[in-house]
Amino acid sequence: MNKPLLWAFAVVCAGLILCFSLFKPDKSEQRATDSSAGLQGQSVGFQHYETNNNVHPAAAADTDNANLETVLTQLQLTTALAPEETAIMGPQLPDTRELDYEQIVTPNTTSPVEGKVAYLTFDDGPSQSTPRILQILNEYEVKATFFVIGKTSEESKRQLKNIVNQGHALGNHTFTHNYNQIYKSAEAFKADVDRLDRFLEETVGVKPEVLRYPGGSNNQLSWRAGGRNVMKTITREMSKLGISYFDWNVSSTDAAAPVQDKQSIIDSVISNSAGKSKIIVLMHDMDLKTTTVAALPAVITHLKNQGYRFDVLRKNSFTYQFLKP
Ligand SMILES: [Zn+2]
Repeated sequence: MNKPLLWAFAVVCAGLILCFSLFKPDKSEQRATDSSAGLQGQSVGFQHYETNNNVHPAAAADTDNANLETVLTQLQLTTALAPEETAIMGPQLPDTRELDYEQIVTPNTTSPVEGKVAYLTFDDGPSQSTPRILQILNEYEVKATFFVIGKTSEESKRQLKNIVNQGHALGNHTFTHNYNQIYKSAEAFKADVDRLDRFLEETVGVKPEVLRYPGGSNNQLSWRAGGRNVMKTITREMSKLGISYFDWNVSSTDAAAPVQDKQSIIDSVISNSAGKSKIIVLMHDMDLKTTTVAALPAVITHLKNQGYRFDVLRKNSFTYQFLKP
């Protein structure tokens, strides 16, 4: 190739390059941005890779915890609405502060009670502990429900009368409280319940409105006597007869040991009642349950401080049932 032609070609090329750089100045910026974005993209991609493929369990847990915390914070924000904010939302919306899971699970409240209510319940009495329990309830001006069994001594009858005379409720907890007997069949169970009803009517002139299954409606100790489905059968039959039964949503854990630690009882009620507006507290009225009696003043004081009022269980009270009939 001859020299002048080479030179001409070089000049044209140089001119083209100059024109290109002069008239498309933003193109380089664009390229730079693209390049930057590309880097960021790679960076993000790398981070995603890190997050999504990092199989370290602690890191994964942290992510989950962070998500959970966010959800919890949102929930707290929702539940922490000031009264006026709730009012703005309108009356058609449920007050989220009142929406406890047990109310959703068991909407058996035919006559809903406003505000926080605590139903203290004492099972298996009367006993030597009854007089002291009654004394404390009287001192604190609190009413409770006693799910009693068939104790026929003169002293027991006196205590049954005291329970009723002081404005507390009697509940049926079966006459014999003998799992092998009562949980053989629905008929056997009903016969035992009727027997206690008759005894209480004769003794104190009161027929209980409410029932509690020994061991709770979902107990497995019944299986040996009546098979795995016996509680389902019994609860269904009793419900057909219009008999309301009540489990609990706050355990005092006083049955977890022969003599449970007093502070454990108090702590259990405090933690198990937190965030619930209606509570049915399980306790026991037995000779041995001295720490239940000892814990009672602190339990009542705590619940009062939390804004609960106390009431007795009635047929149509708020209920909590482990096993739906
Ligand atoms: Zn019992």
